[in-house]
Amino acid sequence: MELKGIELVTVRLSLAEPWVTAMGRIAERSVVLVRAVTDDAEGWGECVAQPEPTYTAEYEAGARAVLEAHLAPRVLAGGLAAMEAVKGHQMAKAALEAAVLDAGLRARGVALVDALRAVSSHPGPHRERVPAGVAVGVTGDVDRLLEEVGKRVGEGYRRVKLKVGPGWDVVPVAAVRDAHPGLALQVDANGSYRALGVDGAAGALARLDGYGLLMVEQPLGDDDLVGHAELGRRLATPLCLDEAIASDDDAASAVALGACRVLNVKPGRVGGLREAVRVHDRCARSGIGAWCGGMLETGVGRAANLALAALGGFSLPGDLSASDRYWATDIVDRPATLQADGTIAVPAGPGIGVSVSLPPASVVDRTWMSARGGA
Ligand SMILES: [Mg+2]
Repeated sequence: MELKGIELVTVRLSLAEPWVTAMGRIAERSVVLVRAVTDDAEGWGECVAQPEPTYTAEYEAGARAVLEAHLAPRVLAGGLAAMEAVKGHQMAKAALEAAVLDAGLRARGVALVDALRAVSSHPGPHRERVPAGVAVGVTGDVDRLLEEVGKRVGEGYRRVKLKVGPGWDVVPVAAVRDAHPGLALQVDANGSYRALGVDGAAGALARLDGYGLLMVEQPLGDDDLVGHAELGRRLATPLCLDEAIASDDDAASAVALGACRVLNVKPGRVGGLREAVRVHDRCARSGIGAWCGGMLETGVGRAANLALAALGGFSLPGDLSASDRYWATDIVDRPATLQADGTIAVPAGPGIGVSVSLPPASVVDRTWMSARGGA
């Protein structure tokens, strides 16, 4: 398979519902896509970096810049292995890897789910669908939260994740648990208890222990594995790591330190699908619970995540929501939809199993880079 060129495509898409944050109200957002073109096929990957560097250090404009200046030229000259010379930039690397893998698999007529199963040590039984989970943001108002959770449960989601932080934890959890006694429920703090220290975090989070949560995700900072290990010993609820794990080596450290009982595996955060399979396999052989995370992907990234989530070591429902949870109109021909049984189908066609169709008005920027250096 000869790579002829790589195109970076920035699109701007409308959200299904405005996204309200402390910085204001956002009705649309841009996404960087990577298109890899070979003699036989083309493939797509999505960069999940967000507009601002508030989840990890990566952000959309930075990811696009490193793709154009450093990653794409290396891959065009030396293949995917040439990316290893560049430090960090996991989300940019993951997007480029996904595009090149997709192109190669489409040319061979192989589905991504089958390719990932073939390299995993714990593929498990074949799964045609995977359980869907959904995340609900900090509403700051219990009635609004209950309305939002009720809506998602009514839509059929099997597992709900609440975003929490100091001052917004036991009250929303108690209210949701009271309204939905049997719901599979978990919380994600995105590192927000860091400022309280381990003692303060233990005091605050121990109050959640009676509510039957599946896990508390990433309470402390992304560089604090020792703190998570100490905190985990003081809570009954299992701890899950997200931001702290940027590679399989990080996962190995976390397992060795006893820093988590569960891992959220996101291809974008660990630098690609192949590394995500390695993290998944490590969880499976180490007795660590695992699930496939999500990052507000379009149908391109979501299709790849669904293929990954079909692996046998993913013992818990992932952040795998239907397209209409986030987007007014998706950019793939078969957007992920929630089935009546609370699952989403794993794409079965070649590559990521969906075709990309970009409305011309959505395209903000296209940059083509040829293997021979021409434009
Ligand atoms: Mg998280």
